[in-house]
Amino acid sequence: MTEDLPIGIVGAGPVGLITALGLVRYGVPVVLFEEDDRLSLDTKAGTVLTRTLEVLNRYDALAPVLRAAVRIDEIGDIDRETNLPARSVLTGALTEDTRFPFVINIPQNDIEPALLEALEAKQPGAVRLAHKVIGFEQRDDHVELQVEHGGAVHTERVRYVLACDGGRSQIREELGITVEGHTLADRYSLVDIKADLDVANPRDYPYLAYFGDPSEWMILVRQPHCWRFLFPLPQDRPEPTPEELGAKARRFIGDVDELEVLGRNVYTVHHRVADRWRDGRIFLLGDAAHLITPMWALGLNTGVLDASNLPWRLAWVLRGWASPELLDGYETEQSPVAIQGSGEMAEAARLYMSRQSGEVSAMGDGNWGNAFTRGLLGVSLDVDGNGAWSMVRGGSEPDAVRSGDRAPDLPLLDTGGIVHLHDLCADAFVALYFTDTRRRPALPAQDSPALRHYVVSRWDAPHDSGLRDRALFDPAERVTRRFGVAPDTLVLLRPDGHVAAIEPFDPKAGGNRAAELYERITGQEPPRA
Ligand SMILES: Cc1cc2nc3c(=O)[nH]c(=O)nc-3n(C[C@H](O)[C@H](O)[C@H](O)COP(=O)(O)OP(=O)(O)OC[C@H]3O[C@@H](n4cnc5c(N)ncnc54)[C@H](O)[C@@H]3O)c2cc1C
Repeated sequence: MTEDLPIGIVGAGPVGLITALGLVRYGVPVVLFEEDDRLSLDTKAGTVLTRTLEVLNRYDALAPVLRAAVRIDEIGDIDRETNLPARSVLTGALTEDTRFPFVINIPQNDIEPALLEALEAKQPGAVRLAHKVIGFEQRDDHVELQVEHGGAVHTERVRYVLACDGGRSQIREELGITVEGHTLADRYSLVDIKADLDVANPRDYPYLAYFGDPSEWMILVRQPHCWRFLFPLPQDRPEPTPEELGAKARRFIGDVDELEVLGRNVYTVHHRVADRWRDGRIFLLGDAAHLITPMWALGLNTGVLDASNLPWRLAWVLRGWASPELLDGYETEQSPVAIQGSGEMAEAARLYMSRQSGEVSAMGDGNWGNAFTRGLLGVSLDVDGNGAWSMVRGGSEPDAVRSGDRAPDLPLLDTGGIVHLHDLCADAFVALYFTDTRRRPALPAQDSPALRHYVVSRWDAPHDSGLRDRALFDPAERVTRRFGVAPDTLVLLRPDGHVAAIEPFDPKAGGNRAAELYERITGQEPPRA
């Protein structure tokens, strides 16, 4: 019997842990192998973006992460020489888009325990520390992993393997998957400093501030317990002493009475992507698939987009709600986003920081568009396989939602109270019919757990309409206006909150167009309850 086998995840970094949380959220058992005997002590990633917060919320893992983080509603862009703000991004503009109009700072070595706590609560014992995967063999319906533990090697059988084993992925190597890209000449120095910039030496820097400069740019990150400085270390330059680091910090933040260097790390920085993300039953996710220059927090957060896209697909296939071809969409949709999207955006941001270029094309004049893009809410996926995707949105006001976009996460009201769109579609495709409930639109029966139907209207469903259980009240048409749809429109949402289709809807026609769309996407009719 292979039906009962878990999915094997290799690597308990942030992407492995979030992918595990996703699968467990869909009721899919996992086993997660981590070669080290503890979670990482590496400070590395420090900022988690809005879209990641939404994914963590969908996977019931947000609370422990927020507890350990500081929240930020402003991303600063400061000219180092003049100390003047250039184009700060105010995330408060996102209140018509998300429940989380902010980003957070949390060091990687704090987010991993928070994620583990959430995973342990759901599937105790899922994570096996000090278990190194050293080989694998793919079979027709499962994979056999060779796992080294306590000096001995044993075999573990799993249904699929999700390689979240980081930039040096052994699994990727063994599959013979080529990685293309380059290593930056400069290394990145990351220094944690204790200084009182609140009371003794008050400064008004945003909690996340990018100081651009041709000779020495720097990113200032307020972490829960300290201030973090990230700056490039030119080629062949020796690592600075603590005294030099202190002096450098003072050059940016001005003189302060006490300043203590708590810790420091120097990282070699790469920009590389795998040319294939899948081999049979094995998938690459996170840094194993794409190493992105750490700029604008596009490393881990791009990996979380992978962890948002693959788990629901696997769950659908394992539940028998989709054919295995649904899994192909993972790479088709995510690889352009990582390679051209995040990859190019991060490189452009790096050139802007060192003033080798005057601007980043991802940043426009409007604060809303900038906040939307920087929070990774602008990721629009190629859901139709026609090559249309994007990561950048412009303008000063929210614009109409398009097919492929991540849907706005706004509240509607069912008969029991408030329901947010992302919660509504977290475990099903959801067809929203934007139409006038008073006219008794012909809606398909609510008979599939995989595809749900709801009419959205500012007219509460009359009690004799037969639609009370499928009606969502939209006071003042807040949601209708944010979607920007014409009257009588069908919007189909996927379980990852992306819009699968937007089409006109004839309220008198009957039929089940949403089921046809579902079948086109999943290769199967929606299962009956
Ligand atoms: C200086 C710096 C700053 C950064 N700042 C940010 C930021 O602010 N925001 C952001 O989004 N990103 C940032 N990043 C990038 C971010 O750190 C990475 O993208 C992220 O760690 C990738 O997570 P991952 O889970 O894919 O891989 P990793 O974190 O590398 O985890 C891989 C895990 O797999 C385990 N493993 C490997 N091989 C095996 C095996 N054979 N068997 C079992 N286990 C195995 C490893 O021990 C490790 O625990 C930064 C990076 C650097 C260097």
